Amino acid sequence: MSELDELYQEVILDHNKSPRNFREIVDANRRSEGYNPLCGDHVTVFVNLADGMIRDISFKGSGCAISKASASMMTTELKGKSEAEAERVFDTVHKMLTGEMAVEESDLERLGKLKILSGVCKFPARVKCASLAWHTMNAALKGSDKVASTE
Ligand code: ZN
Repeated sequence: MSELDELYQEVILDHNKSPRNFREIVDANRRSEGYNPLCGDHVTVFVNLADGMIRDISFKGSGCAISKASASMMTTELKGKSEAEAERVFDTVHKMLTGEMAVEESDLERLGKLKILSGVCKFPARVKCASLAWHTMNAALKGSDKVASTE
């Protein structure tokens, strides 16, 4: 196993065991639900947005280790970021996970710890597990109250 693979497994296991920001924000002004029918992952993302800044972000739900770890990492990275920054990170993560477009080196650098999620590309069936929370967060920021689906 390469170093990145080992790190990937370690981080996913850690976030799955003790997910960060795994709670409901009762007074959230944005919330969205997401569902990945392929795996059965469900997630609800709560956001408190004020003056274009993500003051607080959390999630609840049930799903596989990858979906949970990805949601957990997302909340820790996006908390305190502006809406515009969050969308940029979303775009980069999306490109990285789907491999549809090359990701600029400078964008990759901005991802920090999220780069670990690129390890999921080796398991194409799990890409939707990893991207679920991100699509759901994006829908929440856009104020959509529809259930986001990976399909
Ligand atoms: Zn899953």
